[in-house]
Amino acid sequence: MEDCLFCKIVAGDIPSTKVYEDDKVYAFNDIEPQAPIHIIIVPKMHISSSNELTDDNAEVIGHIFAVAAKIAKEKGFAEKGWRIVNNCGEDGGQTVGHIHFHLLAGRNLGWPPG
Ligand code: 5GP
Ligand code: ZN
Repeated sequence: MEDCLFCKIVAGDIPSTKVYEDDKVYAFNDIEPQAPIHIIIVPKMHISSSNELTDDNAEVIGHIFAVAAKIAKEKGFAEKGWRIVNNCGEDGGQTVGHIHFHLLAGRNLGWPPG
């Protein structure tokens, strides 16, 4: 996807602070953190949003949660707790059209969200 911001970050065409990478996913620090820890996890494959998930491409989402758990343990916030957020579409607050998961931690996160 030529005009996709997160595809460009995955490709290294736009710089980012890498937190984790494997053959399927890439994780990096959010440029505008909403918590002491705010990491964005994306599949390397371009999927526009959660609306595009099907049984044929959704396997990577389970992997993303496993990666989040791994990061939480490695960075030492697993026990205190954390949150994953996926914004989908305009009302969901999605601003970048490549599916992504916000991994938030490091403070007591309020509920309900915005
Ligand atoms: P959304 O609002 O679509 O759920 O989340 C998009 C997220 O991407 C926002 O939290 C925003 O701060 C982050 N973001 C937007 N542009 C960039 C960028 O160029 N680099 C990084 N690291 N994060 C970005
Ligand atoms: Zn993309």
